[in-house]
Amino acid sequence: MQRDYKIFELIAKENSRQLQGIELIASENFVSPQVMEAAGSILTNKYAEGLPGKRYYGGCEVVDEIETLAIERLKQLFGATWANVQPHSGAQANAAVMLAVIQPGDKILGFNLAHGGHLTHGSPVNFSGKIYRPYFYGVEEETGLINWAQVEEQALKEKPKLIICGASAYSRDWDYKRFREIADEVGALLLADVSHPSGLIARGLLNDPLEYCHIVTTTTHKTLRGPRGGVIMMRDDFENPFGLTTPKGKLRMMSSILDSGVFPGTQGGPLEHVIGAKAIAFEEALSDDYMTYIMQVKKNAAVMANKLIEKGYHIISGGTDNHLMLIDLRSKGVSGKEAEAALGKAEITVNKNMVPFDNQSPFIASGIRVGTAAMTSRGFEETDMIRIVDYIDEVISNTSNEQKIAAIKAEIKTWVCDYPLFK
Ligand SMILES: *Cc1c(COP(=O)(O)O)cnc(C)c1O
Repeated sequence: MQRDYKIFELIAKENSRQLQGIELIASENFVSPQVMEAAGSILTNKYAEGLPGKRYYGGCEVVDEIETLAIERLKQLFGATWANVQPHSGAQANAAVMLAVIQPGDKILGFNLAHGGHLTHGSPVNFSGKIYRPYFYGVEEETGLINWAQVEEQALKEKPKLIICGASAYSRDWDYKRFREIADEVGALLLADVSHPSGLIARGLLNDPLEYCHIVTTTTHKTLRGPRGGVIMMRDDFENPFGLTTPKGKLRMMSSILDSGVFPGTQGGPLEHVIGAKAIAFEEALSDDYMTYIMQVKKNAAVMANKLIEKGYHIISGGTDNHLMLIDLRSKGVSGKEAEAALGKAEITVNKNMVPFDNQSPFIASGIRVGTAAMTSRGFEETDMIRIVDYIDEVISNTSNEQKIAAIKAEIKTWVCDYPLFK
């Protein structure tokens, strides 16, 4: 077989890009060599529709062991009693949950995308907003914190079947207990999508969603530092409250409904190579090394936020409890789009992001979102965060000074060379 040099050259090019820059995209991370090895393994050849011990294909003895280990390790990591590790992504995990527990046309209540929520929490361009009837809560304009009055008002008025908490660009911890009280008051199920902070949650650095939420979903590739993918978990199994019954008229347990929401509901064969890689990442996340790592992620974010504030930047909600923050650039007279482009030229990778109550379109946006998960994987510590903020500030204060930006880029390139991906 002829080697596909075209693709491998591009992979090498992307490898250099990843190594020579400062990666601040909050949803990205660098996985370990063994996670990558499993994800690129021969497990990709295997069809295994169904669950361990209950497959629709022969020859599944070995992948059954792998998937069982992934499930057991994940349950241990989060203190869950049930888990499904097959969702191909975070969006797929949410699709599976919604397909399983609610019906087309049912009302859902989620966090506004424009305030930091995720597409799959009811956006009109997403399945969740097309199939279900979405309502939203947001943050308060003055504080940048969850607008509880709005959560309560929307829940009481609309009586949604499903309430979703969790976000893609919210830097504060979540009060799951309060969400549960509201959900119970209106008879809604409560889903926490902890895709972003799941690594911090796993090691007890943030509130535990499984204590109060009926169902919890997360991606595996953000702070959790595993392969691209999703999972669904519960701490306590229970009967489906909306009375959907089996053909024989029996109420089904939520675990079995969620399993069928994944397969055959929204997916075919699971990606066993990715499930193998997930199992490895979960074991890594249980280690002391990961504990040190994830504590550093949180410390680095706090230092970065404080330094930005010191330099006159407005951080939504005034700081961060997790690995990310949303920077409102309106006071600096630079749009998110301009900042993203200028920082990109200096090899500082960020994404433009709408800020709550933004007056710009999503393509321009008034802010940027930054996170510390990826650079902490490269060994960056507090002093490095301060240096990054200095560079960010210099670039943003000189967006049209090509020379200055080129000089910063050169400095960054030499600097990050000293930080190997995995020591
Ligand atoms: C990233 C994210 C997802 C989607 O994950 P994909 O793997 O990109 O599909 C879902 N929900 C939240 C809150 C996220 O941040």
